[in-house]
Amino acid sequence: MNTKKKDIRSLTKEQLRDFFVKNGDKAFRGNQVYEWLWNKSLHTFEDMTNISLETRTMLKENFVINHIEVDSMQRSKDGTIKNGIRLHDGLIVESVLIPTEKRTTACVSSQVGCSLDCRFCATSRLKRMRNLNPDEIYDQVVAIDKQSQLYHNHRLTNIVFMGMGEPLMNYNNVIKSIDKITSSEGLGMSSKRITVSTSGVPKIIKKMADDQVKFNLAVSLHSAIDKVRTSIMPFNETFPLHDLAESLIYWYEKTQRHVTYEYVVWDGINDKKEDIKALINFCKHIPCKVNLIEYNPIDDGEFQQASSRAIDNYISNLEMHDIVVNVRRSRGKDIDAACGQLANKS
Ligand code: SAH
Repeated sequence: MNTKKKDIRSLTKEQLRDFFVKNGDKAFRGNQVYEWLWNKSLHTFEDMTNISLETRTMLKENFVINHIEVDSMQRSKDGTIKNGIRLHDGLIVESVLIPTEKRTTACVSSQVGCSLDCRFCATSRLKRMRNLNPDEIYDQVVAIDKQSQLYHNHRLTNIVFMGMGEPLMNYNNVIKSIDKITSSEGLGMSSKRITVSTSGVPKIIKKMADDQVKFNLAVSLHSAIDKVRTSIMPFNETFPLHDLAESLIYWYEKTQRHVTYEYVVWDGINDKKEDIKALINFCKHIPCKVNLIEYNPIDDGEFQQASSRAIDNYISNLEMHDIVVNVRRSRGKDIDAACGQLANKS
């Protein structure tokens, strides 16, 4: 691949229109090419059938269309599909198609590796290599949408940014990808069906509130006690719970939208009365719900899912305080496609 040529999808629609005008063509040509690139997800100039051969040749001389390839695909017995996605520079990320009765969800990656260091997550063992570009995130959704149509006869219904990486550490590109996913010039999906999950970067949560983003926010809380949270998510030292809470209050004030807390209960780590009490107090900050996630073991046995008694204890106490709580079963465990298991094992 000629690295000197620019990736045409790094251009905005305006820039593409300008390019054609500068080259003596009509601005409208930019719209046509833009539609091929995004709405139709074309990866070659040759197939742009309403563009003249001369223009296609000119485009080929000036640009490349960087794109992803599905490098490997594993199907779980529950229907979950894990994709190894090869990026244009050879790096690999993973994306997952998760079918349930009511919906089909794409779980996409936002970084190669991860900048964070959550001790229970397989991805954190890979160092962060780079951020994904907007088109690389968009392409994952397109690929999974195709699989959804192929295997489930309907389009993708939901998207979660819960694959590899910390989306708020790649905020600009994540936002650009969501703009394309929701735009009628892209996939035209509703932002209500998109959830961005973060370990909680307070400054960016506030920025999201200022930007009036329309997608859902999920925060991987796992503990509402600083000492405990720092021991399992060391980055909590830099962004402690007080700052996180403050940013969430700001979020709610500006957007009037609730937040979902993701929470795993581990044996001997956060299964005590005081852990539940702290969570209940944290939930008082803003309207929220709690998703209790099943723990997906990632090898050394250091972390173990708490007993069902401990989990029931959480549920009854939260409900007693009128906090909505859901228990989320894992999908795709047999192929290491569940939360926290994405680590390019292949
Ligand atoms: N960086 C983002 C998104 C990726 S992880 C974030 O932290 O939210 C998606 C979810 O899976 C997070 O809630 C994360 O805490 C959780 N998770 C990570 N490892 C896990 C594991 N081994 N078992 C269950 N959930 C895990």
